[in-house]
Amino acid sequence: MAEKTGTLERDAGRRVALVTGASRGIGRAVAEGLAADGFDLALVYAGNEAAAAETVAACEAAGATARTYRCDVSDAEAVKAMADAVLADFGSVWALVNNAGVTRDGLLVRMSDEDFARVIDVNLKGAFHTIRALSRTLMRQRGGRVVNMASVVGLMGNAGQANYAASKAGLIGLTKSVARELAPRGVTVNAIAPGFVETDMTAVLSDAVRENYEKQIPLGRLAAADEVAAVARFLVSDAASYVTGEVIRVDGGMAM
Ligand code: NAP
Repeated sequence: MAEKTGTLERDAGRRVALVTGASRGIGRAVAEGLAADGFDLALVYAGNEAAAAETVAACEAAGATARTYRCDVSDAEAVKAMADAVLADFGSVWALVNNAGVTRDGLLVRMSDEDFARVIDVNLKGAFHTIRALSRTLMRQRGGRVVNMASVVGLMGNAGQANYAASKAGLIGLTKSVARELAPRGVTVNAIAPGFVETDMTAVLSDAVRENYEKQIPLGRLAAADEVAAVARFLVSDAASYVTGEVIRVDGGMAM
């Protein structure tokens, strides 16, 4: 594919992927996987610089050019500036993986306005901001990929996660609507719905809660981040060219 290269010195034949929440967990696994698949990487994180630097090193070891962008995806202006910087640096973006996410769990009866709003702002509005900031670029190049990291909780609900479930269900609606809007330009838009995955997000679960979840998972264990990343790598690949508006569960059978 002919690419306009940006200011970074890099192989212009490599496609570019922008991954949010790339400093840790699933996002890091996706970034490392895409580096191995031949992508250069724009890595977005919230504040954990040391972890983001580790992702850069891993991507570079896999042969990619990688650069970090500190950006709170809930801030529309910051996302616009970040997207402009990525396009200036790399010259193009082929794949956008919206993976940044947070939890603020609690029973609804005690949930604060702030905890509800923050989860919606990061998990749902964050994806809206990044897609809006890059959709003209994707449409102009008449091809590309958007992958949104939802959750089975967005399909099933979960006591104590009304805010999180609402954000992920919203993300699925966003995915299907944008898939319809971008399909005429050859851009596919899909969602992944992981079950419970071994990352910092689930490390806070008590042993009792964890055992209870494991009982509900037919495969009997939490997922490794790589097992979720594998599906993101497929959705970004040329092999997935006829898949759009889909939600793929990676949940060990939990929500079937
Ligand atoms: P994690 O280990 O907690 O990592 C979260 C990532 O998101 C970090 O890179 C963090 O950056 C970044 N981030 C957080 N808030 C941000 C913001 N406002 N702007 C930009 N980046 C932000 O999470 P994870 O478990 O890998 O989860 C990744 C995604 O998968 C999330 O969307 C999550 O909802 C979803 N998911 C996770 C599970 C699970 O069991 N783990 C299950 C289903 C779905 P810093 O490092 O700089 O803080």
